[in-house]
Amino acid sequence: MAKVALVTGASKGIGRACAIRLAKDGYTVIVNYSSSDAAAQEVVNEIKTAGGEAEAIKADVSDSKAVKDMIRTIGKTYGGIDVLVNNAGVVRDEFLLTMTEDNLDMCMNLNVKGYFYCAQQAALKMFRKKSGVIINMSSVSSKMALAGQAVYSATKGAVNSMTQTMAKELGPYGIRVNAVAPGFVMTEMIDALPEDKKAEYLTNVPLGRFAEASEIADLVAFLASDNAAYITGQTIVLDGGLSL
Ligand code: NAP
Repeated sequence: MAKVALVTGASKGIGRACAIRLAKDGYTVIVNYSSSDAAAQEVVNEIKTAGGEAEAIKADVSDSKAVKDMIRTIGKTYGGIDVLVNNAGVVRDEFLLTMTEDNLDMCMNLNVKGYFYCAQQAALKMFRKKSGVIINMSSVSSKMALAGQAVYSATKGAVNSMTQTMAKELGPYGIRVNAVAPGFVMTEMIDALPEDKKAEYLTNVPLGRFAEASEIADLVAFLASDNAAYITGQTIVLDGGLSL
């Protein structure tokens, strides 16, 4: 049977690119999403048209029961999970003085608790096989300060810390855990920024452009592969030099 990769938040953006790339590498890909039915189905169709295997599963990964149900279903249908890409995330930029509790909770629940729930449930499956790879989508915001991102950067800092601890706990069972920390990537998340903000951010990127989602997916595919068999517990920055 083909290896199975679960990509959370794969209906759009970076997750979409990771799903398509991992399918090209021969994985059966589970395209997780929470609301965009048509977009998720489009990703599945694109993978299948290219000769790959994929299935869309709708589940809010900030809900622990939904995560358990999704991973149980994947286990029953495909026999386990070989790669988890913890990618579904949200950004709610607000200054400290105006940040609402709702936005604080939304970021924490999805970007931290959601990653934890998925990693915990996937690791239970990987543990049985004594192999597996978990890749957590972090952000360069975990490494540098951007005004308005106290909460977002805290969630991504938590992702980096979880990555190290998970790598230490799971390494003895053949499971590698790494994080990828992109700078600005051309997705809806960036499209939503005001033009003047985008232009300002661009001046700080030495390579002079934002990343394509496929460039993040290339790194994810490398980390998932046996070429990265001795890499674990790392947060790899992919930001065109933004954080230098
Ligand atoms: P995006 O284009 O906004 O896509 C977000 C994806 O997450 C969508 O597929 C969305 O699906 C899904 N999603 C949202 N809430 C969910 C939930 N509760 N449960 C399951 N899926 C959910 O985001 P992106 O820009 O690709 O970002 C992806 C990851 O990369 C995030 O963790 C983000 O923090 C990180 N990142 C992004 C950038 C950037 O510049 N774009 C930079 C650094 C790091 P539905 O529409 O169906 O809900």
